[in-house]
Amino acid sequence: MSGKTGYDFDLFVIGAGSGGVRAARIAAGHGARVGICEESRVGGTCVIRGCVPKKLLVYAAHFAEDFEDARGFGWSVGPVRFSWPDLIRAKDAEIDRLNQVYLRLLSDAGVTLFEERGTFAGPHEIRVGVQLVSAKRILVATGGRPWLPDVPGVEYAISSDEAFHLEALPARVAIIGGSYIACEFAGIFNGLGSRVTQIYRGEALLRGFDGDVRRVITTEHRRKGIELMLGRNVEAVVKTDSGLELVLDRGDPILVDQVMYATGRVPNVRGLGLEKAGVEVRADGRIAVDDLSCTSVEHICAVGDVTSRVNLTPVAIYEGHAFADTVFGGVTRPVNHEFVPSAVFSQPPVGTVGYAEEMATHHVGPVDIYLSEFRPMKHTLSGREEKALMKLVVARDTQQVVGIHVVGPDAPEIVQGFAVAVKSGLTKDRFDRTIGIHPTAAEELVTMKTPVRSHG
Ligand code: NDP
Repeated sequence: MSGKTGYDFDLFVIGAGSGGVRAARIAAGHGARVGICEESRVGGTCVIRGCVPKKLLVYAAHFAEDFEDARGFGWSVGPVRFSWPDLIRAKDAEIDRLNQVYLRLLSDAGVTLFEERGTFAGPHEIRVGVQLVSAKRILVATGGRPWLPDVPGVEYAISSDEAFHLEALPARVAIIGGSYIACEFAGIFNGLGSRVTQIYRGEALLRGFDGDVRRVITTEHRRKGIELMLGRNVEAVVKTDSGLELVLDRGDPILVDQVMYATGRVPNVRGLGLEKAGVEVRADGRIAVDDLSCTSVEHICAVGDVTSRVNLTPVAIYEGHAFADTVFGGVTRPVNHEFVPSAVFSQPPVGTVGYAEEMATHHVGPVDIYLSEFRPMKHTLSGREEKALMKLVVARDTQQVVGIHVVGPDAPEIVQGFAVAVKSGLTKDRFDRTIGIHPTAAEELVTMKTPVRSHG
């Protein structure tokens, strides 16, 4: 297969997830001969066992409240019934469709796909199944995998990977963790009818997020009926005749049917043979890269969760695209990870971009905080006690809006739009000059006039 470079490929990508597929397609578009390998299913975590199926389950879970809320608007909703197998079947069909779309994207771009695990056999050599291929450049895009702490009986627990394929909806489920995945799945199982206990070692959910977001989400989880055990650790999981018993560091054990750990993810580097190519791996397992995604070995780059910079799909896609443009397109595109918006698809959901109130002065000096907390209009008739939050963090000296935090219906959609303003460095005055859309929740972000407090 060797071409004019003396290698089989100009670029070989290990891992066909969001970052790897984007890099492969763009590089091929720039004229490179590209190979890619995938040991699981093309599409990666996001498409196959992450963002996409998760969001479908979030939609499913929300119907429980929609049926209840409809009554306040004059609707009589008859008895409702939920079928987990029907939902999983529909979800699987959609994931199969997307998998096909990804396969087609690769073949249309002329990328050679190897549906095998790839490992380094040397600096330019990759073993893919039984074949050995060589490439001038190699991109590692192997993503991450769930990490579970080493507690006795943890083998009885599942991670989010398995949660998407349970045969039945567990009647009682314990979720360990207090971040993205834990909060999203607590909302999913609770909405679908499981009795959910969420166990988190911290004092408020979503560590690292803005303090008001943490407070509102912690309150709302409880209000929705999730049993939240804060400041607790699980010491053991014990299998009994009546279910799985969780032994906690204090208080009585709890009995559930399913235990799901959402205690973080680690870079997928195990068995990859990076040492054979001389690639530096940090103590926590991530591949060290510079802002052009280059590793310690010049011709080997890495993008996405395996580099653990900002572990979000759109970031991996951006990194993959920037890599391909830089190396094969003749445009040097370093990746800037400042002001990356993100969302937690909890119930209610969170959208956020920029600095949390607690961190802002550290980055930009004195700040003014604008805050509005209110009952969304829909709930005046639905009767639901659910609070929404809109918050701006403004650097006092420059008047630049450096943080937006939203909790409530459509928060991720709202913040995606406003993130353009924050990334562009717009000032509070620009927000003030923008006329709101009435009646919306998001209009609060352009109508808040007086800071509720200041720091610095
Ligand atoms: P995170 O790394 O965000 O959080 C891990 C959670 O587990 C924290 O609450 C942490 O507690 C807790 N934890 C860690 N170690 C232990 C332990 N030994 N015992 C008890 N609790 C522990 O992980 P997630 O699994 O939620 O998410 C993984 C990644 O996936 C994130 O980086 C996120 O970026 C991404 N993701 C993004 C989503 C989105 O954009 N909507 C959705 C899902 C995932 P503490 O806070 O005290 O450290």
